[in-house]
This record gives sequence, C-alpha cells and structure tokens, in this order.
Amino acid sequence: MPQIIVDKNKCIGCGSCYAMYPELFAADADGKSKVISSDYQTHGYNKEEIIAVCPVSAISVKD
Ligand code: SF4
Repeated sequence: MPQIIVDKNKCIGCGSCYAMYPELFAADADGKSKVISSDYQTHGYNKEEIIAVCPVSAISVKD
C-alpha cells in the first residue's frame, strides 16, 4: 500500500492539497494538512501531480 506523508514542519497551511484532493487530505486544528487516506490510486490520482500541488514540497509519496 502507498503511504502519503506530510512534513508538518514544512507545511504552511495553504490548503491546496485538501482543496484538490479532499479524499486524501484534510485540515488539522492548526490549518495544516493531515493525511486521511493514502489510497490515491483508488481515486485515479497521479502521484507526481499530488506531490506537485504543494508549493513548499511538504508532500511525499512512498509506494
Ligand atoms: S499543499 Fe503543502 S503547504 Fe499547502 S496545505 Fe498541503 S501540505 Fe500544506
């Protein structure tokens, strides 16, 4: 199973990931991103596009 990781030290809470991929990310209490599902393939998402949505390179994906 793939694993999506958000580096909370890098995340600036811009909201792009949870706006674009609401099945995978949500806002935590601080407005930063938290991963709610790593199963991006089920939703037909592209790994490189998920990584690229973050302006500060806080998202990584391990397959
Ligand atoms: S796109 Fe990046 S900076 Fe923006 S909320 Fe998501 S992880 Fe944080």
